[in-house]
Amino acid sequence: MAIDPVCGMEVDEATAEWKSEHMGKTFYFCAPGCKKTFDENPMKYMESDSHGGHQEEHHHH
Ligand SMILES: [Zn+2]
Repeated sequence: MAIDPVCGMEVDEATAEWKSEHMGKTFYFCAPGCKKTFDENPMKYMESDSHGGHQEEHHHH
């Protein structure tokens, strides 16, 4: 299972209809809307890769 980086849902790579490649990694999405959201701002979702899937707001300094 892969995690949809936009909404956090589990997505089966084998049957995923929506996916995007970014920086050499493949991301899977549960719906076209999630893929679109990712495609519009992939960096926002790239950064949380090492945090176990948790989406955290960044602190502004
Ligand atoms: Zn989704």
